Amino acid sequence: MKRKIKIVGASEHNLKSVSVEIPKEALTVITGPSGSGKSSLAFDVLYAEGQRKYLESLSSYARQFLGKIKKPNVEKIEGLSPSIAIKQQTVSNNPRSIVGTVTEIYDYLRMLYTRTATAHCYNCGQPLSSLSIDEMIGQIDKTIGLNERFTISPIIRNKKGQFRETFSRLQKDGYLQIGRASCRERV
Ligand SMILES: [Zn+2]
Repeated sequence: MKRKIKIVGASEHNLKSVSVEIPKEALTVITGPSGSGKSSLAFDVLYAEGQRKYLESLSSYARQFLGKIKKPNVEKIEGLSPSIAIKQQTVSNNPRSIVGTVTEIYDYLRMLYTRTATAHCYNCGQPLSSLSIDEMIGQIDKTIGLNERFTISPIIRNKKGQFRETFSRLQKDGYLQIGRASCRERV
């Protein structure tokens, strides 16, 4: 893939056949006096063409709802991917909003990852999978004696302390061992 976007002969609005190369994967700032065509280059050439290419890649069925897309006045643009544009006015008051959330790309990314990725444990890196109740029991049977009875139940979660009362109550109920659940240490 090309590492730059090459614009040749952009003449939209007040641009007079501007040719420029913009590196990818970098932050590029277009500066200049008022009226020199900064926005024309950014929005009316670069963004417009990126958008047009993206819409052209959609099915003809989807395109019939979008109407005719105007081609910007430019000789040629190389290396352009589908584009998004965010104008300088504030779109959201939320200080945590980012390009992904404002454009809703974030939601699609999340969906993509949930559909195509394999989830791994954030502690030990093992791939996560769902187990049937029989499989869970089978795994526990391997670590404790076959004829022992067991209960899986969260008693204390994310709390510090000695929990003497809890333990003596469990002892009275007949529990002889209490395990600590963790992905590194088996009970
Ligand atoms: Zn783990």
